[in-house]
Amino acid sequence: MRKLLWLLAIGLLVFNFQGMGQTPYGIVIHGGAGNGIVEGRFSAEEEEAYEAALTEATEAGYAVLEKGGSAEAAVIAAIKVLEDNPLFNAGKGAVFTAEGKVEHDASLMHGTSKAAGAVASVTTIRHPIEAAQAVMDHSPHVMLTGKGAELFARDQGLQLVENNFFFTEKRYNQFLRAKEKRSEERSYLSEDFKFGTVGAVALDQEGHIVAGTSTGGMTYKLYGRVGDSPIIGAGTYADSKLGGISATGHGEFFIRYAVAYDIVARVNYLQESLTQAAEHVIHTTLVEAGGDGGIVGISPAGEVVMVFNTTGMFRAYQTSEQPLSVGMYGE
Ligand code: ASP
Repeated sequence: MRKLLWLLAIGLLVFNFQGMGQTPYGIVIHGGAGNGIVEGRFSAEEEEAYEAALTEATEAGYAVLEKGGSAEAAVIAAIKVLEDNPLFNAGKGAVFTAEGKVEHDASLMHGTSKAAGAVASVTTIRHPIEAAQAVMDHSPHVMLTGKGAELFARDQGLQLVENNFFFTEKRYNQFLRAKEKRSEERSYLSEDFKFGTVGAVALDQEGHIVAGTSTGGMTYKLYGRVGDSPIIGAGTYADSKLGGISATGHGEFFIRYAVAYDIVARVNYLQESLTQAAEHVIHTTLVEAGGDGGIVGISPAGEVVMVFNTTGMFRAYQTSEQPLSVGMYGE
């Protein structure tokens, strides 16, 4: 009996010790923000399809973290699911440029090593986020563009496809409408045409934070336009001691206001929480400037942040402390 009690006591101690020592981990993702994301706009089937896709991506990333895998692997796993899903403006299903083709941008940043990688204006890489990862992990550079990025991706053994692999009827019709409107009123940035960028930020069991973003940019973008998504500090930023951010929205504003970096810098310099910092930048700085969009992020303590100044943002998260949660519309 006494032996049994001892064993029980030791067991409890070990259990407690593990519980105390366990760092939180988790992943938060987005599938784009926009003022077109309002209740009533999507059919029940469409809502279900978005929810299923966001769930699948979050679970893919969380499964990596749960097994003790890296935040980098979790972010890549989640983003690849979204790149493959034609519902989102990334990978297959990305929007069309003014020239009528698909051009992707993507980036990835590791918050501990500060390593970062990005590709811009690529047209044949099946999973642009993997190319960003390859730039980060296997090149001395941070950003590669166009043809060069594609040659590098080929040398890295990444899958290349014809540009029409990314074609979807829905995006092509948006392109045609944008083309028509543009000649009338130059409104190619209108709400219909700018949501669906994807991103993920993960915190792993070792405390590393990694952020990544992938997009086709904006419908009818002109002359090799590059948005914020592949720009470290604008669309993506990570610091394992402060937090990680992936952004979505009107890229020109996110670049000018260095949105992802500004949020993390406020945590550093002003000792704000990641939530406070994000709310200030999205609801004050960007609103005053006229920039639409939002961010998702995670802090080293596992605080999940999802802030947007649009009517909606496709989003989801799962952490060691909180079960899976999926959202589309504002509160
Ligand atoms: N930020 C992206 C860009 O400007 C678009 C988006 O997030 O919807 O390229």
